[in-house]
Amino acid sequence: MRITAVEPIFVDRYLFVEVRTDAGLTGLGESGAWGFLEASAGAVETFARYLVGQDPLKIEHHWQYLYRWTHFRGAAIMGALSAIDIALWDLAGQHHGVPCHRLLGGPTRDKARVYYHVFGRTREELVRGCVEAKSAGLQRGRPPDPFTDDPRDEPYFQTHAAKIAGAVETVRQYRAAVGDDVDLCIEIHRRLTPAEAVVLAEGIAPYRPFFYEDPILPDNFDAMGEVARRITVPIATGERLHTIHEFAMLLARGAVQYVRPDVCMVGGLTGAKKIAALAEAHYVGVVPHNPLSPVSTAACLHLAACIPNFALQEYPLGEDRPPKSEIVTNAPAREGGYLRIPDAPGLGLALAPDAAARHPYRPREVVTRLHEDGSVVDQ
Ligand SMILES: [Mg+2]
Repeated sequence: MRITAVEPIFVDRYLFVEVRTDAGLTGLGESGAWGFLEASAGAVETFARYLVGQDPLKIEHHWQYLYRWTHFRGAAIMGALSAIDIALWDLAGQHHGVPCHRLLGGPTRDKARVYYHVFGRTREELVRGCVEAKSAGLQRGRPPDPFTDDPRDEPYFQTHAAKIAGAVETVRQYRAAVGDDVDLCIEIHRRLTPAEAVVLAEGIAPYRPFFYEDPILPDNFDAMGEVARRITVPIATGERLHTIHEFAMLLARGAVQYVRPDVCMVGGLTGAKKIAALAEAHYVGVVPHNPLSPVSTAACLHLAACIPNFALQEYPLGEDRPPKSEIVTNAPAREGGYLRIPDAPGLGLALAPDAAARHPYRPREVVTRLHEDGSVVDQ
């Protein structure tokens, strides 16, 4: 079997890659480069110049070749490599007639516990969202942000005292509203300084959060490690990292209790499985980051199914309705608080033939929130 074409395909807000072969099989992957999908598609086209004519089953070799042929890294390139790697695993599964996780040592489980997103402009909306998610069967965990989701064109200002007190009260109300039947995954979206992160963690600890995600900007692993040493709430981080080397540095500093590799950013299933093994050696759980399409969700589920330290799966809103439900055929199925592990050959799903025509590409706007004084805010 030889690769005949590697094609980037834009649909809605997503970048997919199809790898076609002379055996008539097509592999599907997705890039997690988010705001840089055009750049990631350019990297896919560069990689295609090497891949066409190659044996698609030499997955690790192609991964190493493309990662190491030149010295640049980063989101656009790793998103492209991830999409290609996922597509090659999809092809390998189809070729052997088994789901991807069977080639990766699985299954370690039949279904993956999920968490769900709750958004709201007010505390009341956020608390109501928690209660509604619980009654919809998503009682197993979700990530309410203790800060409200204000519009990005609205200038931000809160005193330190009001910011911390408000966030603690919001988390208290979440716990009061849903009881202990629900795990609360508290997403901070990099909003705090290390000093603020320590104070807020002390405030919310009595409400037993499952994890405290990205309390500070994730770039400085020493700073994240210092926060982790000073708090008792488990930290989740890693969605912006690209390589096993970055995760190794994070883990070596004791800076994380739940790693959050994005399968569409860390080098696909090949990269993510290695990160999971590094985490396993530190008794750290894996919560795959997944803000993308059902293709990413399927890849995450094959990871969950082949590792022992899977903890929880992010499950984006709206996978069961348009546009997401029209982008692929055979999207992963939810049963209450779990997603079934796909059991069809390969990834177990394909791009719908009319996906790109029905849902043209919508590039993300370059917009971020500003403080009342005009400076940039992380939100
Ligand atoms: Mg996050």
